[in-house]
Amino acid sequence: DEGLQKTKDNFFSKVTKAIAGKSTVDEEVLDSLEEALVSADVGIETTVKIIERVEARVARDKYINTSELNGILQEEIEATLVDAPTANNYDFQSDLPKKPYIILVVGVNGVGKTTTIGKLAYNFKKAGKEVLLGAADTFRAAAVDQLTIWSERTGVPIVKQAMGSDPAAVAFDTVSSAVSRGSDVVLIDTAGRLHNKIHLMDELSKIRRVIQKVIPDAPHEVLLVLDGSTGQNALEQAKQFTAATEVTALAITKLDGTAKGGVVLAIANQFKIPVKFIGVGEKMEDLLVFDKHEFVESLFN
Ligand code: GDP
Repeated sequence: DEGLQKTKDNFFSKVTKAIAGKSTVDEEVLDSLEEALVSADVGIETTVKIIERVEARVARDKYINTSELNGILQEEIEATLVDAPTANNYDFQSDLPKKPYIILVVGVNGVGKTTTIGKLAYNFKKAGKEVLLGAADTFRAAAVDQLTIWSERTGVPIVKQAMGSDPAAVAFDTVSSAVSRGSDVVLIDTAGRLHNKIHLMDELSKIRRVIQKVIPDAPHEVLLVLDGSTGQNALEQAKQFTAATEVTALAITKLDGTAKGGVVLAIANQFKIPVKFIGVGEKMEDLLVFDKHEFVESLFN
């Protein structure tokens, strides 16, 4: 995809430089490959794992040329990425595993949370599903306004209350409304203030508890939105959110404007939580369902 061009160029040129013209894989090649991956934002931990896997393969295979090494590298990078758990696997077209399917969307302000909700609403609706939005980020007037704009843009109803009202009350209203309307999928926006971890934890637990009064096994998905253009900062946010609440899926945004897309590999490997969506622009069409094979292949071609 064109949205990933900068990441592709960056990754491809670094890796190519590291292995160009080599016919045996020695320490030097592995070192420069390691350096290339780290500087492409793959992160130390994931890079080390990839290099170890490559090393093990190369030792088995001994003599090797550049294109073979390329192939091995590609396979081992893919192997470090987690598979989406089949239990709550879904796409836009198929029926969702539960009705209504409740998706709680979490993440720090500015990462593209509202935009991602808008894009998801657009895709679900286009596939013929009844969508409902819940504006449970009641702390910022702008958040409710933005979500309202997306609701109008996509033609999807929204449940909201006055600014400053209890986010859990909005979540409760939204889920109750979804049940009585017979909605297929519910996307609930939450406040993303990270300055106080205890507060974040308490608030998300409260929202969960209240949702469970209506639907005991909900939320069915907790989608954490991360800004891919912030590179290693996105990793740090993932750490904090996964410590605060149970996150079941990731969306990584703004991969169109950055060369730091290698961070997707780091995040997917380190958190054992599937990356389900990637954002490659500001428009509602600019959301891709993440496919690890396609993603890794695109980095090399
Ligand atoms: P929120 O505060 O997390 O809800 O963030 P918003 O959804 O309001 O997004 C913040 C800014 O990032 C807006 O200007 C969006 O248009 C922009 N944005 C969101 N997703 C993407 C993306 O995938 N690519 C690009 N280039 N911009 C994005």
